[in-house]
Amino acid sequence: MTPRTRRAASLLVPVAFGLGACDGSDVRVEGPNVVLISIDTLRADHLGCYGYERDTSPIIDAIAAEGVLFEQHITSAPWTLPAHAALFTSVPDSVHGVVDPINTRLSEAYQTLPESFQDAGYRTAGFFAGPYLHPAFGLGQGFDRYVDCVQVVADEDLDGSNAWSMTKPVMRASHHGVTNDKVYGRWKEFFDEAAPGAADGAPFFAFVHLWDVHFDFTPPAPYDTMFDPDYEGRVTGRDFFYDASINAAMDERDKQHIVALYDGEIRWTDVVVGRIRDDLAAAGLLENTILVLTSDHGTELFDHGGKGHRSTLYEEQIHIPLIVHWPGRVVAGRHSGVTRMIDVGPTLLELADLPSRTTSMGRSLAGITRGEAAAGDAPPAVSELISVGQNLRSVRTAQDKIVHDATSQIFRWFDLVGDPREDAPMRLGDDERSRGLLSLYGEVQAELRGGVEGRPGQVERPEIPAAVQRSLQANGYVGDGADEER
Ligand SMILES: [Zn+2]
Repeated sequence: MTPRTRRAASLLVPVAFGLGACDGSDVRVEGPNVVLISIDTLRADHLGCYGYERDTSPIIDAIAAEGVLFEQHITSAPWTLPAHAALFTSVPDSVHGVVDPINTRLSEAYQTLPESFQDAGYRTAGFFAGPYLHPAFGLGQGFDRYVDCVQVVADEDLDGSNAWSMTKPVMRASHHGVTNDKVYGRWKEFFDEAAPGAADGAPFFAFVHLWDVHFDFTPPAPYDTMFDPDYEGRVTGRDFFYDASINAAMDERDKQHIVALYDGEIRWTDVVVGRIRDDLAAAGLLENTILVLTSDHGTELFDHGGKGHRSTLYEEQIHIPLIVHWPGRVVAGRHSGVTRMIDVGPTLLELADLPSRTTSMGRSLAGITRGEAAAGDAPPAVSELISVGQNLRSVRTAQDKIVHDATSQIFRWFDLVGDPREDAPMRLGDDERSRGLLSLYGEVQAELRGGVEGRPGQVERPEIPAAVQRSLQANGYVGDGADEER
């Protein structure tokens, strides 16, 4: 008997259950299923339900219309690894500490979101395609089954340093492929096993990480030409990040095509989201399943003169979707206030009627999903970029964003209502509004310090062998991070 089933059995009436042979679950538990879908690199503003003019997301839009859409949902970091660590721990990046890939692994001392469901007797499964979701970074905690659906990193290449994450073959392989079908296939295997039990009181928690919206932008037909059928130029979407000739200075027509290819990836991923929704519906489980659609970060498509992500804290990199769908249990609508990556975990635990975690720094949005007025003012969203030579922190309210660069000690302030594209940073002065923002920033810093002092464990730092370190440096893989996996 695993620790999980022991704990579960002590809490719940133990009933032998048919699916036990698969995942070790041999108890019947109460509660809804949870399907948490993270669509990597999905900007909120490129979805129809967030106001985009193109029809990129008919299925996601339909799910949103039946659920609760959070209009100003903000990630903790503009790149994959720390954002998912925040999703699972519900603490900001500078608290969980998983802010750089080398020699870094999430502390086992955290009770992660999957662990909470596992401890409650849920069957838990995760399916991922991006290399930073690899269990070597500690993100597999709490999953009975955690599947690398693409396996760009061979098991024999793993070592304690996680240095493989920075090697070019891994980067290229992870970007070139069309991976949604592989992730969906592994989900479907699990679902076909789990659905009969789930219909009879043996719920599951599934995390599905879809990677194709991340560059390269090479959607399969017909999505490759769907939004720009007449283009005859040279741009293919391949090597978007590593091809220096793809940049903000290139021909406007080519830039438009890049955006069309990105949008094609979204439409292709929308189809796969539809398959998962249809699986739930066909098994009669839609009404007993909390379906959450979100992302880990956005990406820049030349908005501020750059491309990709893990480079700034502008909206195109930190504003992500959050949609919670649970027919009959959430009140369909839209919430206009600021919400945060770290709020997702507390929300799911409350909706599933499970205990909150003492280490969480997020707040539950469950009341909002039930149509209740939000209790008190929304706390500001904190986003951080503490890697690739940067040390940036933003504090964002519905009205304002201030960004502090700890290297230069410069603050930048954006009025998001008057200047939603963040074209014109303002100077913080001696006026009341400036003083209020600086005071808010100070409060956030104090809260983060408290979080660091109260965290259950420090980030683990497996030693990197000196020979590997030298080799990485000699090959340019350790340094300013310009070439790193995003
Ligand atoms: Zn990502």
